[in-house]
Amino acid sequence: MSEKLRFLTISLFLYFCVGCVVNPLTGEEEFMLMGEQQDIAIGMQYAPEIEKQMGGKIASPTLQNYVNTVGLKVARVSHRRSWDYRFVALNNDSVNAFALPAGYIFITRGMLKQLTTESQLASILAHETAHVVARDTAVMISREIGIGALLSAANSKSSSRSVRTAAGMARQIMGFSFSRRDERDADRAGMDYMVRAGYDPNGMIETMQMLDSQQKERPIEFFSTHPNPENRVAYLKARLQSRYRNRQGLKTGKEDFSKFVLSQLKKKRYPGPSSKPSP
Ligand SMILES: [Zn+2]
Repeated sequence: MSEKLRFLTISLFLYFCVGCVVNPLTGEEEFMLMGEQQDIAIGMQYAPEIEKQMGGKIASPTLQNYVNTVGLKVARVSHRRSWDYRFVALNNDSVNAFALPAGYIFITRGMLKQLTTESQLASILAHETAHVVARDTAVMISREIGIGALLSAANSKSSSRSVRTAAGMARQIMGFSFSRRDERDADRAGMDYMVRAGYDPNGMIETMQMLDSQQKERPIEFFSTHPNPENRVAYLKARLQSRYRNRQGLKTGKEDFSKFVLSQLKKKRYPGPSSKPSP
């Protein structure tokens, strides 16, 4: 190879690799300007803002510990096992779950009240973990806001105007809507994660059926940020049949969910804001 050709080859290689990362769910390269350290910075800086806007954490250490433990079981068998995941239950009536970059994952009280088993909880947390693994929110931030604007809004404490900007940014992040393809990828990877963690994958199908029937009564918040792909239940059933039909001994966890979540929610009345974020 001549020097000129070698130089051209190396230049092309560098040109096409800059700004690209491989999505572990699809194996495809995606354009991405954020590094993983920036994912962590955004997660750390915006998680408190989002907690505040969504009514704060549910004040039950038993419940929080349980939700986090179930989430970590799933995250530790995902494609990105070493990240520092945190699963938090928010004191908010909306039926929702969402993820910030770097593994900050939230589920609302309104969603928890709709569930009946630990495997259903695991399915929601596994779906959100898959969004984190695919860095779907990071892609949206790169595209819609810009990393510099986001971090400077969070860092600036010099005026009330900048604080409002950070609050607005947090609302914008919470409102991001993923593509139907991202949703399908998160469902499929999420089902794989929950089974690897020892959970019955029927929990994911039950959860999607429950959310579908809720959506028929009123538009629920989960589907404003997680568009419902067509045939969602059908492709989940097909995956279960093809991969997991003969798996034995997987956990459903109705009693544990009742003890550590539903009865905890009944113990206290949590003075919470409505599902609307504060202005
Ligand atoms: Zn989703």
